[in-house]
Amino acid sequence: MTNQKPRIVILGAGYGGILTTVHLQKLLQSDEAEIILINKHDYHYQTTLLHEVAAGTGDENRICIPIKEVIDTQRIRFIKDTVLGVQKEERQVILSHSGTITYDYLVVALGFQPATFGIPGILEHALTIRSMNSARKIRNKIESLFADFARVKDVKESLTLIVGGAGFTGIEFVGELVERVSELCKKHEVDRQRVRLLNVEGGPGILGAFDPSLAAYAKESLQRMGVEFRLSTRIKSVDAQGAILATDQGEERISPATVIWTGGVQGNSVVCGTAFDAPRGRIPVEKDLRIKGYENVFVIGDCSAVMDPQTERPFPPTAQLAVMQSTTCARNLTSLIRGERSLEAFHPLMKGSVASIGAHDGAGVILGLKTRGKLAVLAKAIVDNRYLYILGGPKLLFGRGKFTMYCMQTAYTASSGGK
Ligand code: FAD
Ligand code: NAD
Repeated sequence: MTNQKPRIVILGAGYGGILTTVHLQKLLQSDEAEIILINKHDYHYQTTLLHEVAAGTGDENRICIPIKEVIDTQRIRFIKDTVLGVQKEERQVILSHSGTITYDYLVVALGFQPATFGIPGILEHALTIRSMNSARKIRNKIESLFADFARVKDVKESLTLIVGGAGFTGIEFVGELVERVSELCKKHEVDRQRVRLLNVEGGPGILGAFDPSLAAYAKESLQRMGVEFRLSTRIKSVDAQGAILATDQGEERISPATVIWTGGVQGNSVVCGTAFDAPRGRIPVEKDLRIKGYENVFVIGDCSAVMDPQTERPFPPTAQLAVMQSTTCARNLTSLIRGERSLEAFHPLMKGSVASIGAHDGAGVILGLKTRGKLAVLAKAIVDNRYLYILGGPKLLFGRGKFTMYCMQTAYTASSGGK
């Protein structure tokens, strides 16, 4: 042990990391362990709402929560710094500004990065929704594209936005963006007919493994709002002018165009495939959420690969999973600190998923029941409220009451027969 009290170091204050910290501060007495939380920023953000910030429809202040608002600073040492790597044999974390920090127990919760599949130009020229800063960058870029386009007098020219990938992120983003495009057209006096919003998907349909009737509902809703879909079409490359799309029939160059890539994610390469093996981009963990051979290292959230016994594939990386993992991880750490050898196995109870389609529509399956329209929006708002409650109790929930208000408004509209 590095000092009298064992030291737990938690990397990342996203869904998995911040909740593990909050659970530990309740489970452990202050004389049982020293707890250190390390994160790039002094705020936690709800990654699940980044598409709203990126489109410019969501308020970033609502989804950013100062970390010191939810942790007990008497109990937890918070270090604002960037993790550069982990030296597992030396049991230390390398930080950008604060040197190295040793650990007795480590929780890796550094989230995701975009998967590019080696597609030329994505890293250099496409925008990606991966953090609060990247979401702000997309919002500002879109705003400036419209401001510049408003000065183009040739009516034959169009402003083209390509969203690459129609998984949950691509669909939720395009749903917000299509609403924002209408606002920006009005604001900058641009004819809506001159703006193309293209969603390009390599597979034959949108929202891959989702219920087909709900995917069809989402597609029709978005088409009605003005989204153009290109299915069975891959983004082949991206450059400063636009993108090349490929189908079985051939290739098509689309330029000028701005590409926002939502084609998939992998675990953060600061740890995945560098400090620890990550065969398919995420670190496989045992049932107790530790890495085989590293009994003092837990991995949770998007950096981890947890096998789903039903499909024999890893569970998709979601906030829902990270939230559930944080409970098991905190309990198992508490057991280890107290010298108990038997640890809890992680058995997630997946409750379903909802895709938003702009601010007022959605589609999803909740506890096995299909839902769409306002009820889906309400279900999503309840999930977000529940998260805020788990994180910071009634104070955080009511302090950020937009969702609470929204739930009430949506419930009222739904009960009075609105869509
Ligand atoms: P994150 O929540 O991403 O947190 C990682 C943290 O690590 C961040 O605070 C980051 O700043 C920090 N960090 C990263 N690198 C470093 C570093 N080098 N040094 C220090 N700190 C670092 N899932 C759902 O269940 N429901 C949804 O509705 C949903 N919607 C989504 C919408 C969008 C637009 C996106 C992109 C994802 C969505 N997801 C959703 C997936 C979900 O957001 C992720 O699965 C979840 O955020 C994973 O949690 P995490 O704790 O692993 O990582
Ligand atoms: P994803 O892997 O789920 O979807 C990526 C999509 O991009 C796929 O449909 C894929 O076929 C497509 N694609 C890949 N390469 C392509 C190419 N070259 N050209 C065109 N299309 C291409 O990734 P995601 O949407 O970023 O989601 C990541 C994770 O976050 C998932 O687990 C998802 O469930 C979760 N998530 C959940 C929600 C929600 O529950 N509401 C919202 C967003 C994300």
